[in-house]
Amino acid sequence: MLTPEGLAPATFVVEDERIVQLCGWDEVPAGAELHDYGELLMLPGLVDTHVHINEPGRTEWEGFETATQAAAAGGVTTLVDMPLNCVPETIDENALEAKRRAAQGQAWVDWAAWGGVVRGNAEALPLLVRAGVPGFKCFLIHSGIDGFAWVDERDLRLALARLRGSGLPLLAHAEAAGPVDAAMKALNADGADWRKYATYIASRPDTAEVEAIALLIRLAEEIEAHIHIVHLATAQALPLLAEARAKGLRITVETCAHYLWFAAEEIPDGATEFKCAPPIRSAANREALWSALLDGTIDIVTTDHSPCPPAMKRRDEGRWDLAWGGIASLGLALPVLWAAASRRGIGIERIAEWMAAAPARLAGLTGRKGTLAAGADADFVVLDPDAAWTVAAEDLHFRHKLSPYLGAELRGRVLETWLRGEPVFRSGAFPGEPRGREQVRR
Ligand SMILES: [Zn+2]
Repeated sequence: MLTPEGLAPATFVVEDERIVQLCGWDEVPAGAELHDYGELLMLPGLVDTHVHINEPGRTEWEGFETATQAAAAGGVTTLVDMPLNCVPETIDENALEAKRRAAQGQAWVDWAAWGGVVRGNAEALPLLVRAGVPGFKCFLIHSGIDGFAWVDERDLRLALARLRGSGLPLLAHAEAAGPVDAAMKALNADGADWRKYATYIASRPDTAEVEAIALLIRLAEEIEAHIHIVHLATAQALPLLAEARAKGLRITVETCAHYLWFAAEEIPDGATEFKCAPPIRSAANREALWSALLDGTIDIVTTDHSPCPPAMKRRDEGRWDLAWGGIASLGLALPVLWAAASRRGIGIERIAEWMAAAPARLAGLTGRKGTLAAGADADFVVLDPDAAWTVAAEDLHFRHKLSPYLGAELRGRVLETWLRGEPVFRSGAFPGEPRGREQVRR
C-alpha cells in the first residue's frame, strides 16, 4: 500500500466514508468487515484537475455520467471540471448552479468546478469564490469557444486584483496569440499542406508558450498571485519556470499524459485524434518534460480529457486546421504513466504524487483527497501493477470511443476503485448508484 511514509504492507480502517486509522492487519478492530488485497497495490484515489465534462449544454460531446464512469474505471475519484465546452460556460454564479443541477444523481466520482476568467467578468469572480469554486481558468489565446473570451494583460490584472486575498489559483492556458497568428499567416502564404502533422506543430510554435509563460511569471511576481500553468507542452519554458520557482514565486505547473507518452515523430499525417493545443512535440522534448517532473519543475500530470463527437475530428479529410482540438483519455492515465515511468525506472510513489497528492493541493483538497492517511476520504484504487494490456474500444468508458491511445500497450490494470468507503468500479462494472458529491471549497 502507498501510505504517506511510502510503499509498505499496511491496513487501513474505514468508518463513515473516511480512513480513521492506519495499522497492522492484526490490529484491526474486532467485528470489522475485512478485505484482503494480498500482493496487489493500493493507491490513493487519483485527482484529475483538468477534465472537460461538457455538461450542461454539450452532453452529446461528453457528460457527467460517462465522464465519471471513465474516471472510476481508471482509479480517478475526484475530477475538477474546466469552465468551458459546457453551455453556459462556468463564468458566473448562475452557470455554476446550472452545472450543479446537471450533475445531480449522475456523478460516479466526486467532482468540483473551476470558474472561468474571461474578458469582462471580473465582477462575477468574488461571487464564484463565495460559491465555493477552488480556482479559475483563463486563456491567453482564442479558446475555440466563442462564449469563453480570452484575456490580455489588462484583463489579467483586473482579474488578479479581484482574486487577491482569496488564495485561489488562476489556471492559465499559456499560449500567446502573436506567434501563433504569425506562424499561421506564413504557413498559409506558403500553401502549407494541412494534412501534415509538421504543419500543425509549426502553427503552434514553442515561442507562443514561452511568451505567455514569461508574461504570467511577471504578473505572479508583481501581484503575488498563485498562477498555475495548465498543460505545459514545451520544454523550452522550463528554465524560465525553474528560475521563477527558485525565486519563490507561487507558480505551479502541469503537463498531460499525452505529452509524456506520444512524440511528434510517431504521429501520422491526418491522424487528428492526436490534435490538442499546445501540440505534442518531439521525443527529445518529451524526455525533457520527464526530467522536469523528476526535478520538481513540473508538479502535476492531468489528462486534459477533452472529447468531441467523432465527426468533428474530420478524420476523412485529416486536416489539422479544421479538426476540433482535444484528446480523449479519461481512465487511461494511470496505466499510461505507469508503463512510461517503469520503463524509465521511476517508482509508483512519484506517480501518486503527480496524479493524486499534488492535484489535490491545487484544488484545495489537501488532507481530504489524494492520500491514504487518517482523516482522508476512503478513496482508493486497487491496481494489478504487472498486468500488461492493449487498449481496445471496449476499455474506454467515455462517450465517444475515439482516442489516440487505441492500440497502446500499457502496464497496470485498475481492478477496483472505491469512493468514500464504497466500490464504484469492480470487475469491469459500476456497482450501486452514482454517489459522487461536489467538493466545495470550505
Ligand atoms: Zn483543457
